[in-house]
Amino acid sequence: MLEQLYYERNWTMKDMNDIHLCQPDSRKSCGACCGLYNYRDSSRESLVKRLRTRTELFHEIVRRKNDLKTFSEKTKKIEDREKIYEVIYCCEFLGFLDHEEKRVGCLLHPLQNRDTDLRGASFYGKELCDGHLCPSYHYLSQEEKLTLIEIMDDWHLYGLCITDIDLVKEYFRLLCDGIGDKMDTDKFCSGTLRETMSRFFSLKTSWPFRSPEANRFGKYWFDGSQYMISHIDYENLGCARSRFDRIFMSLTSRFKNREELRAGEEIIGKNIDEFVDRYRKKY
Ligand code: SF4
Ligand code: SF4
Repeated sequence: MLEQLYYERNWTMKDMNDIHLCQPDSRKSCGACCGLYNYRDSSRESLVKRLRTRTELFHEIVRRKNDLKTFSEKTKKIEDREKIYEVIYCCEFLGFLDHEEKRVGCLLHPLQNRDTDLRGASFYGKELCDGHLCPSYHYLSQEEKLTLIEIMDDWHLYGLCITDIDLVKEYFRLLCDGIGDKMDTDKFCSGTLRETMSRFFSLKTSWPFRSPEANRFGKYWFDGSQYMISHIDYENLGCARSRFDRIFMSLTSRFKNREELRAGEEIIGKNIDEFVDRYRKKY
């Protein structure tokens, strides 16, 4: 199956170390480091509206390089610019790259502009935009990257998960501990196993114990220009640190009481048990 995956994406085995996390395939992409999730309201619905409007505006008014300034000013004027973290810039040139709105990406990229690179007009400039590789490129293993790419088909969820190193590593570690084997993308992505993993990662947006605070992002808590790690107060809940602590933090959890914590543990535990059970039956 992996060979098939490489073939479909025009990859060769030589490219195994060059997995493109930003634009992995035609089903989704990521725009996290362009500030995509740094808006107070970064729900899928709100971001679709934002990206759609600016993409349409871009195609309507940008004919020449000089039009980029007008586009930038207009976009900033009509958009709600309230951010979670002031220090991170939210780039107005991030939009949809395809009609189906499956891929988010840079509207200034040469592939979008008949080989003309317009990124010099942006806040970060061409060199920074071109050369940036986020920590996920370095810290996620090949198997972790490939598995995530294989099971995800929505840009909003993909960007949230591919950048959450703790969530990805911890979940796959727990699965490997459960099956008593190392990770193998071919095996992990087959049949119903894939569905179990997809359900887990969808918790990133549907977690019932998610904190309602707008200044939280994963395990981080923002205070305008500073950020801190938001730990779970186990002492206050009257229980020991959960074995799913890292996952809970990544899911932006806030438990009101011990019962909620146990209910959260049950959701994660059941998913892992289901995977292990299905894996053992299959292999
Ligand atoms: S956060 Fe990482 S994967 Fe996402 S667009 Fe930036 S460099 Fe690419
Ligand atoms: S100009 Fe740079 S920051 Fe802006 S969307 Fe393009 S790549 Fe992202």
